[in-house]
Amino acid sequence: MHLSVMSPEELKKAYETDLTEAFPPAELKPLKAMEAMRRRGTYDPLCLYGEAGEALGYILLWKHEDGRYILIDYLCVPAGKRNGGTGGKLLQMALARYPADTVFIGESEAPSGDPASDGLILRRLGFYARNGAATLGYDSALFGVRFKTICWAGSIPEEAEVIRWVFRAYLNGCSPASIAAEMNRRGVPKKYGPSVWKKTAVVYWLKNEKYAGNTLCQKTFKTGFPYVAVKNNGELDQFYIENCHPAIISQELFDRVQARMAQRKVSQSEPIQYPLSKKLVCGNCGATFYRNASRCGTATWICSEHKDSGGSCPTMPVWERDVYTAFIRMYNKLRLHEGVILRPALDQMEALETAIQRENPAMLEINRAIAQATEQNYKISKLRASGLLDADACAAKLAALDAQLTQLRAKRRRLLRNDDISEMAETLRQTMDTLHQGPERLEEFDEALFAELVEKIVVSPTALRFLLNGGFEVTERLWEGER
Ligand SMILES: [Zn+2]
Repeated sequence: MHLSVMSPEELKKAYETDLTEAFPPAELKPLKAMEAMRRRGTYDPLCLYGEAGEALGYILLWKHEDGRYILIDYLCVPAGKRNGGTGGKLLQMALARYPADTVFIGESEAPSGDPASDGLILRRLGFYARNGAATLGYDSALFGVRFKTICWAGSIPEEAEVIRWVFRAYLNGCSPASIAAEMNRRGVPKKYGPSVWKKTAVVYWLKNEKYAGNTLCQKTFKTGFPYVAVKNNGELDQFYIENCHPAIISQELFDRVQARMAQRKVSQSEPIQYPLSKKLVCGNCGATFYRNASRCGTATWICSEHKDSGGSCPTMPVWERDVYTAFIRMYNKLRLHEGVILRPALDQMEALETAIQRENPAMLEINRAIAQATEQNYKISKLRASGLLDADACAAKLAALDAQLTQLRAKRRRLLRNDDISEMAETLRQTMDTLHQGPERLEEFDEALFAELVEKIVVSPTALRFLLNGGFEVTERLWEGER
């Protein structure tokens, strides 16, 4: 008997036969989705094979990216192979396949209280209990059916003492790097992975809520009918399954370490620049936002005067993803309706600008020179296009003109320095230029476009006010079209 990952062909065969028989259509996610997840490295479709190579059972596992949390997506022993403890062997072999501290999560239908229908449900829960699962204190409901959430969390007693020492050493002022060095010096063994302890491993321990006996859950959620589970990016609050893992350290010790780490983070304030760094401003108190990333990679931006960081501002954090999405929407609207939205503003500014410049002879002269250079540029391009100028001569001339234009524009900017209207018109022209050169339709967040277009974003509870370079404003609601 051996357990191994199914090839795409084997999975297809299993899906079309045994899995389709065992699960109602609404509960079985599409084969395409399984294969897509497998390609992303987050899905292990395992099969237990008998001596003759026949399939005895299947267990399909959905892995969280950090590898330490695994959801038992489907467990299936085909009818006719259900005796002889195949299910238990399948489950045990699957659990043993992963590192000892992996947390497995699963679901099993909850008893309804009606003895007539509870028999099978209780047998199934009993099966999980015999195989080491803990039933957690909350249920979920789907299609009117309640499910018990069950969990296997490996315990690693020989490591427990080291873990306690690490937490205490950190509170005593040791840095993660020096703790790692000390562990190397003492020859603390590693279960798996490279045999040298590094700072990152220590930081990972210090942040691991599992050691206080809790497991962060709800990394996936269900979107309703048809049954699709997707990664939870914060749409639902993540919450803790308490006491699902034997506590190695006390909650109090864990909390103190978290507080200390948060303090250090603020005082060391790493100078990493994110696209939204220094761009978000609180609509309530005017403070800037800082970024907070969770271990699974989702990030929020928080007003630096927010209550939880010791201030008094009630403005709630915004999800980075929501800001990106709002930017994409805003960009697409601007790009599509630029003539209606931006053009009139620029026309007005230019009219004002002309009125002001009429009284400035130096400016008139430069403007004339710019117009001439631009026209020459156009003529040369035309000559080149009709084959009257050869490529090299043309390129040299165009380069010279370009340099001249750059100089003239710089001169003009210097003259304009004290002229707000012209400067704004110039920035707005640049903004429109950026729009023209940008893609017709933006599908995903573009850091460069964002930096060129957006000066600031004012955050209010339900909307983002984008202040564009050039003094133009566009307000986007948060979450438009999502709820
Ligand atoms: Zn604020």
